[in-house]
Amino acid sequence: MIIVLEEESKQLEEALGGRFQKVRRGGKVAYVSSRQVPKELLDRLHDARIIETAKPYQLASRSFLEDSTRVRVGDAEFGGREVHVCAGPCAVESRPQLLEAARAVRDSGASVLRGGAFKPRTSPYSFQGLGEEGLRLLREVSDEVGMPVVTEATTPEQVPLVAEYSDAIQIGARNMQNFELLKAAGRAGKPVLLKRGASATIEEWILAAEYVLLEGNWNVILCERGIRSFDSSTRNVFDVAGMALAKLLTHLPVIADPSHATGRRDLISPAARAAIAAGADGLIVEVHPRPDEALSDGPQSLGPSGFGKMMSEVAMVAKAVGRGLG
Ligand code: PEP
Ligand code: MN
Repeated sequence: MIIVLEEESKQLEEALGGRFQKVRRGGKVAYVSSRQVPKELLDRLHDARIIETAKPYQLASRSFLEDSTRVRVGDAEFGGREVHVCAGPCAVESRPQLLEAARAVRDSGASVLRGGAFKPRTSPYSFQGLGEEGLRLLREVSDEVGMPVVTEATTPEQVPLVAEYSDAIQIGARNMQNFELLKAAGRAGKPVLLKRGASATIEEWILAAEYVLLEGNWNVILCERGIRSFDSSTRNVFDVAGMALAKLLTHLPVIADPSHATGRRDLISPAARAAIAAGADGLIVEVHPRPDEALSDGPQSLGPSGFGKMMSEVAMVAKAVGRGLG
């Protein structure tokens, strides 16, 4: 049950026996609790609005907030009319590589730089990322090109460090249900980009977001990045309907990652256009100055010219659905 009040109530807190979470939003305070409150008390609470959603998630639900939440990463506002594109290499490899990618994506209209410093790789023998050195490079290059940056934290301990260097914290697909990581990210005071797990249901994905919201951090962007199927022709299956459903069920911005969703450079633009046509608030795309030399995810990375072409194709679709590229 969620009880939304104009101001805090000590009486209610006592009635809930301390078993509640208190979150603030837009001048209101919401008490989230699984405890029942006597009706007489509820009647006495001035302006109380009671929400009993049938869904297991509460704060993320559209029945909690009808209006779409807007999340700012630097100057880019996700969840409004404009569609924003995050782009950059899968992994930070060197300063020149990152700078070249960042300039290219900025010049083609991307609004947020992406790049991994801590890489969650399937094989322990694959390139693991530059770690803190990668974070330093991300900050430097981000400032140099004038774009905000998003990068992944893979453990709760890394979160404060990542938050120090980055404008937003990415939680990767493999970590979507790392609950301690979600809580740490919720407390870090930075927007959180939450990827859907490759085998996660929509409900599990939204419940993962709920962990971040419960820490009082409303700045969560959901990201559909493809789910597993029987067919290995594409790396994953881009769940465009699931992405659209997340937008119907929650008030959070939802973006798509056509690189991980398809695993193929030649499918990035088709999947990106489908995402925008279906209502995505943005994209996150892997771009490398020389994709064939990339230390990770080269086959699903666009080169600078391919990215420019994708951006003009996406812009046409955005216009057709009454939106523009931010
Ligand atoms: C990535 O963004 O490079 C990444 C590892 O993504 P995901 O967690 O979606 O696999
Ligand atoms: Mn990648």
